[in-house]
Amino acid sequence: MNSCLFCKISAGELPADKLYEDENAIVIRDINPQSPHHFLAIPKKHYPAVHDIPQNEMPPLFAGLMNAVCQALNSSGLHNAGYRLVINSGDTAGQTVPHLHIHILGGRQLEWPPG
Ligand code: AMP
Ligand code: ZN
Repeated sequence: MNSCLFCKISAGELPADKLYEDENAIVIRDINPQSPHHFLAIPKKHYPAVHDIPQNEMPPLFAGLMNAVCQALNSSGLHNAGYRLVINSGDTAGQTVPHLHIHILGGRQLEWPPG
């Protein structure tokens, strides 16, 4: 049985506040937002991190994932306001859900470097 949280949300087995969905990816609102706009773009196919994606699957997966990111940016208005895309990978980067996802953050002044 697949116990992955984002696999279950992608499959509609657990609820989420969805901004966008197609056959490749979903974009949901983060349950614990770190900025006024905080979305997660999640590929439906399970890989823990970018370095786990086979080379031949990289182009279609990222085309689908980045299309979902852009749909959310455009519908939320962040494309005009400015935003940050983040992928946390591994414990030291603070990854808590081991299913690849891109954080979309915006709606406030974002500090650099991140903590
Ligand atoms: P990361 O720590 O980079 O793996 O990001 C995981 C993100 O998933 C965190 O920002 C969490 O707040 C968020 N999260 C955890 N559970 C849920 C959920 N059920 N629905 C939406 N976001 C979630
Ligand atoms: Zn998964």
